[in-house]
Amino acid sequence: MKEPGNFKSLFNHSRRIALIVHTNPDADALGSALGFASILKQVGNHVTVISPNEYPDFLKWMKGNDEVVVFENDKEGITDLINEVELIFCLDFSDLKRIGELGKVVAVAKGIKIMVDHHLEPEHFADFEKWSVKAGATAELIYDLAEEMGWQGYIGPDEADCLYAGIMTDTGGFKHPNTTKHIHEVVAKLIGQGANTARVAKLVYDTNTENRLRLMGFALSQRLVVMKEYNVAYIYLTLEDQKKFNVQKGDTEGLVNYALSIANITMAAFFTESKDLVKISFRSVGSYSVNEFARKYFSGGGHVNAAGGKSDLSLQDTIELFKSLVIKNKEELKHETYTV
Ligand code: 5GP
Ligand code: MN
Repeated sequence: MKEPGNFKSLFNHSRRIALIVHTNPDADALGSALGFASILKQVGNHVTVISPNEYPDFLKWMKGNDEVVVFENDKEGITDLINEVELIFCLDFSDLKRIGELGKVVAVAKGIKIMVDHHLEPEHFADFEKWSVKAGATAELIYDLAEEMGWQGYIGPDEADCLYAGIMTDTGGFKHPNTTKHIHEVVAKLIGQGANTARVAKLVYDTNTENRLRLMGFALSQRLVVMKEYNVAYIYLTLEDQKKFNVQKGDTEGLVNYALSIANITMAAFFTESKDLVKISFRSVGSYSVNEFARKYFSGGGHVNAAGGKSDLSLQDTIELFKSLVIKNKEELKHETYTV
């Protein structure tokens, strides 16, 4: 935070507040926003949560979900709202490009901007920042912020479930190296405040449709390519594949991790063809930075071990480009840790 003293004074009377999450929000973005929204409402503020676009059903159980507004569905109304609010929180992103067209609206809005995030290489667009790359999740930073403000009392079971969902997913179920002592301490407090960890895990991870499970089976048997010599594996899905399995938003979530789960794989990628671009998810093990890889070659970014990007080329050309970059980065991709 640039000026913590001043930040506290922002809340000396009731405010109109917008909480904005990134495009294709995940459990960390939505959990942070909905958990924080509930706290801010209890403190006496008027709060609206805004998502740039729609999001999958497995994220729709959180308290306050019914009140989330989607920019894509009401651009004019939401632009007016953003121009009227006094405070604008940007949650789980630190680059206005991450919210697409909405970024232009936020850039010129008169409200005070507060960014809360843990992604690498932030763009400093906000008036206040609660940013830490050491945080495993934005939800962890929201918990810390609530404590700093003396608002822990407003975190009950519903708010705790929202924040826990963000931490559980962004640490990959406590498997990633961002799983620190501090994040476990935050989780312990969330459990103390009523988080139902088994319920959250079930709602987020185990609500597959039959279609989705069959899609996974197809992707793993037909669309997985292992570049063993380079410690790289990737999966792709064509538009036709997606049509065949009636793919819905969120159905491909986590697929890339299966490619990464192969022994001695350093980097995994997942390519999804859409009408006008190819969306790519990158994951890595150890010090190889997919943030750098995505930033340098695919107009993206994220974290050291999890990043995303996109390509304007066809699916086939995108994959060819990717393969050539893998070959170019052969030395860096050599497996260095956890070799079995
Ligand atoms: P995912 O592969 O799950 O979509 O994203 C992995 C991580 O990379 C997330 O933390 C996400 O916020 C970030 N990310 C995904 N796509 C992009 C992108 O296009 N640009 C940037 N800067 N980050 C992205
Ligand atoms: Mn996050």
